[in-house]
Amino acid sequence: MPKSDLILCALDDQQILQLFERALTAVSYQVAIARDRAALDKSLQESSPALVIISQNFDGANELEIAASMLDRFPTQPVLLLLLKESPEIVKKAIHIGVSDCLYAPLRVEDITKTVENSIKRADRIGDYTRREVKRTTASLQHRLDELQKLDTIVEHIEDGVIIVDEQSNLLLINPAARRAFGIWQDEVINGKPVSEVLPHPDLRILLSESVNTPVPHNEITFEDGRVLSAQCTPIPRIGLAVTMQDITYLKQIDRLKNEFVHTVSHDLRSPLTAILGYVDLLDRVGPVNDQQHEFIHRIQNSVQSITALVNDLLELGRIEAGFDSQKEVVPLEGIIRYALETLGGQISDKKLNLHLNLPAEIPQLRGNPIRLRQLLDNLIGNAIKYTPEGGEITIDMEAQSDQVILRISDTGPGIPPADQPHIFEKFYRASNVPKGVGGSGLGLAIVKSIVENHQGRIWVESLLGQGSTFTVVLPLFTQAAGQ
Ligand code: ADP
Repeated sequence: MPKSDLILCALDDQQILQLFERALTAVSYQVAIARDRAALDKSLQESSPALVIISQNFDGANELEIAASMLDRFPTQPVLLLLLKESPEIVKKAIHIGVSDCLYAPLRVEDITKTVENSIKRADRIGDYTRREVKRTTASLQHRLDELQKLDTIVEHIEDGVIIVDEQSNLLLINPAARRAFGIWQDEVINGKPVSEVLPHPDLRILLSESVNTPVPHNEITFEDGRVLSAQCTPIPRIGLAVTMQDITYLKQIDRLKNEFVHTVSHDLRSPLTAILGYVDLLDRVGPVNDQQHEFIHRIQNSVQSITALVNDLLELGRIEAGFDSQKEVVPLEGIIRYALETLGGQISDKKLNLHLNLPAEIPQLRGNPIRLRQLLDNLIGNAIKYTPEGGEITIDMEAQSDQVILRISDTGPGIPPADQPHIFEKFYRASNVPKGVGGSGLGLAIVKSIVENHQGRIWVESLLGQGSTFTVVLPLFTQAAGQ
């Protein structure tokens, strides 16, 4: 029995103390004695006994209180209580506060050594278990820490800018790429500050305020030096918002060059096309033309007209995208709708389409470019007419809300396949189910989208194959307060 373990005895009664000393040293324990509470505290601080034995009413105090305050400070310390007589109630309370065991008279040497041994063994077992648990928890914490460090390193090194704000719009994280983009020095302490104070960029402010409830998938942040960032903002539950940003300046430059190229080519094509059309028109005036020649002339005229329409659409799109129509005025929306319908009325009656027009009693004022808004309606209503078979229905609904107007143009046409729907606003895109013989350049909706965006609005389509399509346009209203 290798027992160099130290047993600290806090026992008042001299005879009992001697009995314990004899019994324990006989089985090779070291025994230390505390004669009062101060000595007990001191011994506990200076040594780490394998077991502390406290007698009932030690130093005139309650043994349970002494044990409880000791276990408060040294929770893993094994403690044995020596009671004057058997008391299940005290034993229950003692076990409850974490005492290892209790001894009571009559005291026999073998009872003392057995109980002391058992208490120490139990404490060892608990100690082993605790050590194993601590090791396991430390390993798992280390693993989590490694993972967090990896994540930290990734966020620090990625080329994309990352900004995370809490629900009160205070900065939680801004990585070096985002710092560089917004011109913030690496060593500036900015975490925890309001994002509007640290990064007072209007595009970022709008993006964050719009994303609080729904994620805004695509947005642009433009800087005075010409740089453009594409930004995505996503709400993170219980944290706030995360903004990721990529530099798309070079893509914007390529897009501008491409648009300039298309604009130049379209412009240069217009004059020869006008000349071709002019000369073809003159053909039957310079001599007799037979029926077949008439037919050929007619086909040339149709083809040249559709190329001219395409070139005109391209030039229009170029102008809208370049923002040449930035001047806006208060627009009488109802007048524009009725005027568009008057112009298209012939086509509606030719196809025997039923038109339903639902306008609100009071039509709100809109601030915009009347020519472009007319073009928007012409294209959307024109498409509804073009794609809806004879006898079908076209419905135009307008709804005015406090700060926006919602325009819906629905038809009972062929609908648009779901796979095509995300692309129909792209230039030259035509859906896979365009009915045979229905012409078009695929530019109309690209023009519409650009016009809507120039008016800070939104457009989307809902469509069911074989049942029809609804195009919804939302435009912000003219409000004095907004000073728009
Ligand atoms: P297009 O000159 O081909 O009509 P648009 O840009 O106006 O070009 O429209 C793009 C495509 O979207 C069309 O080719 C067509 O496939 C689809 N589309 C647009 N409007 C409708 C509609 N009202 N019903 C069905 N398909 C439509």
